[in-house]
Amino acid sequence: MTTTMTETLQHWINNAPFTAEGDTRTGKVYNPATGEVARHVALASKATTEAAIAAAAAAFPKWRDTSLTRRTAIMFNFRQLLAERKGELAAIITAEHGKVLDDALGEVARGLEVVELACNAPYLLKGEYSENASTGVDVQSQRQPVGVSAIISPFNFPAMVPLWFFPVAIASGNAVVLKPSEKDPTAANWLAELFAEAGLPEGVLNVVHGDKESVDTLLNDERVSSVSFVGSTPIAQYVYSTGTANGKRVQAFGGAKNHMLVLPDADLDLAADMAINAGFGAAGERCMAISVVVALENIADELVAKIAERSRKLRVGDGTRGCDMGPLITGEHRDKVAGYIDAGIAAGAEVVVDGRGGSVDADGEGFFLHPTLFDKVTTDMSIYTDEIFGPVLSVVRVESFNEGIDLINASKYGNGTAIFTNDGGAARRFENEIQVGMVGVNVPIPVPVGYHSFGGWKASLFGDQHAYGPEGFKFFTRNKVVTKRWLDPSHGGINLGFPQND
Ligand code: NAD
Repeated sequence: MTTTMTETLQHWINNAPFTAEGDTRTGKVYNPATGEVARHVALASKATTEAAIAAAAAAFPKWRDTSLTRRTAIMFNFRQLLAERKGELAAIITAEHGKVLDDALGEVARGLEVVELACNAPYLLKGEYSENASTGVDVQSQRQPVGVSAIISPFNFPAMVPLWFFPVAIASGNAVVLKPSEKDPTAANWLAELFAEAGLPEGVLNVVHGDKESVDTLLNDERVSSVSFVGSTPIAQYVYSTGTANGKRVQAFGGAKNHMLVLPDADLDLAADMAINAGFGAAGERCMAISVVVALENIADELVAKIAERSRKLRVGDGTRGCDMGPLITGEHRDKVAGYIDAGIAAGAEVVVDGRGGSVDADGEGFFLHPTLFDKVTTDMSIYTDEIFGPVLSVVRVESFNEGIDLINASKYGNGTAIFTNDGGAARRFENEIQVGMVGVNVPIPVPVGYHSFGGWKASLFGDQHAYGPEGFKFFTRNKVVTKRWLDPSHGGINLGFPQND
């Protein structure tokens, strides 16, 4: 790979590294486990972002007319290369994001699922046909690519989130400009370079690094047809309103606050294990992390004790050393999360396990926090209302199942949720009544498999199409209906009335 692990990571346009002569701005990319600046990343100006859009716009007409057979063959090559070299990508993720290596491999595996889905594009893009809709008239519905697709992704899944979108966009015949997070940008270049190696033509997948300036350029440029955004809710709202006001198709995935409801008949050891995995995996930096455990009062003491015991045993440190939990993304973010621990204590929550301090298995001054567990959290506290995006788990106690459902439904977010119970009737009611897009039953992180679609409700998604699966293909294509008659030739004569079928 020529573009990765260089001193200053450059953009990737037309299947080659692109250095913008006039741009002077760069961002720092840390190794969060040591706290050191590992490299810098170029930050694109408007003109540089426009160069990437121009490359995609130029590549689009030929790519959309490339046969399904050829497009799919390239996707299969990409899938094969990615499966063979997933270890390299996982190492890049761990080095820049900090999540432990096993977790990084899991991220790549979930991204790979979407590439495998995209290998089915010919099947998924098939249209519909009605013969003789009217006498001698046939009607077909066909899906066509939208054009240039912009993808703007967050730091927490530097490979998986881009992979939720670009394989589907490209398999559908679009050309892409990907703007990954500037905090861990290398995975995007690595993926684009691998796709080029798999045979993807120039300009079909471009990577531009940057911040608000390049996002705003993508949102305003009339050559961009669709925008897929993933990030925090305020920016998702901004992207959705700006992009749609400019006539673009937009899906903007926002933040989350995911609840796990534990009923008295649940296996409490299983529930405690799952609360740990889903609360502290990736140091809580997952949009599907569980951040609130909702416990029925009569089992809360026992459940809290089990979660606390497990939390204290977690090994925190450098993700390459077989630890359970790695660092947070930056020192600034670590301090913000620690500030929430102060706020929780000040607001009167009971801190059962305090994650500030403790030993870590790492060299240097990494951005670490240990797991924190709060009990007796109430819904007016900032540790409950805000998305913390760190290893802080809150327990809210409720008196009844109904109170638990009402609590979850009152949340402004609706990304993921889970119920732990052995009562099928209770689980069924939960599935039916809960106002959340992705629901787990005894499954704490219900991220759908590649052939279903991913998406939350309420402030967790702006736009109506979810990611990947059937909805992903819908998002990246437009329906066109062709009504046609081949002359018999029998001529019906002039009739100015609205066409009716007979
Ligand atoms: P973020 O909102 O800070 O950044 C996301 C993207 O927006 C990045 O590419 C960034 O460069 C860009 N950006 C940042 N500030 C901007 C601005 N002012 N104007 C325009 N663009 C801007 O998010 P993050 O911190 O990278 O990621 C964490 C967030 O992402 C969390 O809120 C998490 O819940 C959310 N997330 C949601 C999902 C989901 O599926 N709903 C998945 C992953 C992450």
